[in-house]
Amino acid sequence: MNIEQLVRANVRSLVPFSSARSEFTGTAEVFLDANENPYENGMNRYPDPYQKELKQEIAKWKNTKAEYIFLGNGSDEIIDILIRVFCTPTVDRIRYIHPSFSMYRISAEINDVDRIAIPLTTDFGIDVEACLRDQQPEDKILFLCSPNNPTGNSYSREILETLIKGWKGIVVVDEAYIDFSDEPSLIDSIEQYDNLVILQTFSKAMGGAGLRLGMAFANEELLSYMNKIKAPYNIGTETQKRAMELLANRSQIDTQIQTVLKERKSLKTQLEAMDLVLQVHRSDANFLLVQFEDPIPVMRHLIEKGVIVRDRSKEPGCSGCLRFTVGLPIENKRLIEALKTYKS
Ligand SMILES: *Cc1c(COP(=O)(O)O)cnc(C)c1O
Repeated sequence: MNIEQLVRANVRSLVPFSSARSEFTGTAEVFLDANENPYENGMNRYPDPYQKELKQEIAKWKNTKAEYIFLGNGSDEIIDILIRVFCTPTVDRIRYIHPSFSMYRISAEINDVDRIAIPLTTDFGIDVEACLRDQQPEDKILFLCSPNNPTGNSYSREILETLIKGWKGIVVVDEAYIDFSDEPSLIDSIEQYDNLVILQTFSKAMGGAGLRLGMAFANEELLSYMNKIKAPYNIGTETQKRAMELLANRSQIDTQIQTVLKERKSLKTQLEAMDLVLQVHRSDANFLLVQFEDPIPVMRHLIEKGVIVRDRSKEPGCSGCLRFTVGLPIENKRLIEALKTYKS
């Protein structure tokens, strides 16, 4: 696919910001180029604009190359950058599966980029034909999410690859919850599909929601356009440092993921045993989508008991549904106990 042709004309011709320090190679001892305060305090210098050290570590972890990685201030920033690289406001369009993560729509709206929502099937499957139908040159990006939020299910590699091959533009597969899924990541397909962008994040399994660090994986050419328009120092020094610390503690995170998976299973069993609960949807993520006859009074009751959950009952195909994040064992117990004291 000709990626360059998909890029907005003004981005293609843009001469990006360049710092004296990134143009310089060699070893320097005196930095008088960036108007910083010269007194060392651990943060007086601008951060590495391309986060080289952190990307090396992420590449080892994900078994890929540092050149295939882009980092953003959360996945939120990456979604916005992708839309700004490829979509001309008031001209181009994106498509996304629906219901899914709301930032695809919101980011497009902010950028005055038109949107087509492709409804999921009744069992939360992707309508492949509807995604690909009647694609115009203006339909630049297709956003997919697997495991999907809020439905919790993941999609097979086969379905995702059919979409990547059939779509004549960029396909974004958001894998924010991949660490909780049995389905493998598509990161190993970056070289095979030049229109594929994978999103992952430090916000969920990695325990770094407060850091604001999102990852995109794609080929170098595609990433070069994202690098062109990003704010020069979008990831702070402290974020880069703390992310390295999280990566050094991977074994602890793996244990936490195993506990969450065990809790997800036990929570599902306990919920299914309740008369109050109509259905617990299958989940490959760290949350459960649970259907009630009348969800709003249930949610109010939970709030009274100090338990906050997410109302998803207005999402298409999710009527009656609340979304429960899997918490600590003691927190999940409190959720179950609170539900047991509910009287309709
Ligand atoms: C939580 C979530 C993210 C994470 O966004 P960040 O900006 O990285 O915190 C991304 N995608 C989906 C589908 C999510 O649910």
